[in-house]
Amino acid sequence: MSTVSDLALSRLPDGLSARRPLLWLNPAYEPEAGPGLEPDPVVAKARYARCAGLLARVFPELSDLGGRLVSPLVSIDRLRDTLHSSGTSGFWFLKRDDSLPVAGSVKARGGFHEILALVEQIATEHGLLQADTDRSVLAEPAARALFGRYTISVGSTGNLGLAIGLIGAGLGFRAVVHMSADAKKWKKQRLRDHGIEVVEHVGDYAAAVAAGRSIAQADPYGYFVDDEKSLPLFLGYAAAARELQAQLQIAGRPVDADHPLFVYLPCGVGGAPGGILHGLKRLWGADVHGFFAEPVASPCMLTQLAVGCETPVSVYDVGLDNRTEADGLAVAQASPLVAPLMARVLSGAFTVDDDTLFRDARRLEDVEGIYVEPSAAAGLRGPGWVLDSPQGREYLRRHGLDRVLSQATHVIWSTGGSLVPESVRAEFRARG
Ligand SMILES: *Cc1c(COP(=O)(O)O)cnc(C)c1O
Repeated sequence: MSTVSDLALSRLPDGLSARRPLLWLNPAYEPEAGPGLEPDPVVAKARYARCAGLLARVFPELSDLGGRLVSPLVSIDRLRDTLHSSGTSGFWFLKRDDSLPVAGSVKARGGFHEILALVEQIATEHGLLQADTDRSVLAEPAARALFGRYTISVGSTGNLGLAIGLIGAGLGFRAVVHMSADAKKWKKQRLRDHGIEVVEHVGDYAAAVAAGRSIAQADPYGYFVDDEKSLPLFLGYAAAARELQAQLQIAGRPVDADHPLFVYLPCGVGGAPGGILHGLKRLWGADVHGFFAEPVASPCMLTQLAVGCETPVSVYDVGLDNRTEADGLAVAQASPLVAPLMARVLSGAFTVDDDTLFRDARRLEDVEGIYVEPSAAAGLRGPGWVLDSPQGREYLRRHGLDRVLSQATHVIWSTGGSLVPESVRAEFRARG
């Protein structure tokens, strides 16, 4: 049973254990925290820049983009008008990581970065790389033969496995993905189609991670990407902040006290949304307001931050079962690396039930012609919670945002979908 005290549990919002969709405001939020936050993702941005040529060589679909891993930012006014039509709606955008090249999800940002860091390290140790060597040499046979001695492994509900497996195999590594038995069949198949080994484990995502971790530790040529505590993943995600900054500038949307930015990020273990928000906070501090979206059955970050980071807690401890169709978000316990980094910078979190995910994904496709997977639709309720709920209005009042709402920008981060096969899409559509 839980070792979490009654006092700690009393900090949870009413209705959380009953799976009621709700918005929780983080009482520890400090608007001014931001600009000086460590770590600095500039290392990841620089790594991506110097490895662009390598990525373009390994993945032909990246060559038109010059090897840059970027996703579009698109305006979704029509969807806004069906979900929220008023003078205070502001400007809505969808950040389309569902269509990130190669891996089709936000996981590419963190995953590719961690593996690029690894190949640089291995190649340097073996004398194939100096500080200023063109990274494209890492696609040459000598480097591939070297990488072929190593096994990269990862525990995943699917998308991180795809990202790590694809870049790992692409660079010549043996790649193994540990998955929970309930992971989606098509994701396992897609991995195997690419020559990536899939090992299935009973239990949930955390059990697959634990099993993968211990197998890798026993192998001197094993490297484990640890989604529960990886700094390179976090930094790779955080580098997305500069990309969004440039895109908002092109879209003519300033971010400052008179033009606040609200960002809605689907959250699983916390690495992707946490890294992105961390990067955005460093750029804009109090002018960016970050909200995480979590399934009603798996609000692990909300639960951890509400209870306090000194006490590790899972959603099982609060009577929830972590059962959701949003497989990318089906995580019972937040990352112990990321949760403390979010303690002062996250504005709040809201929960979404599965039916709403399917319905919103369907609506996004019907109205805007954009297909995303259910997990990726989790952020769509965000502006409604912030603009229309009593808690949201309390937040806006507290931070003096009422008067600038018509000039606010809302970015809903869409996190996965382009690799979902048509037959599975049809099923999801029918449910929506
Ligand atoms: C992994 C994932 C997320 C959340 O990322 P975490 O790092 O686990 O918090 C959100 N959406 C999709 C589609 C994902 O695959």
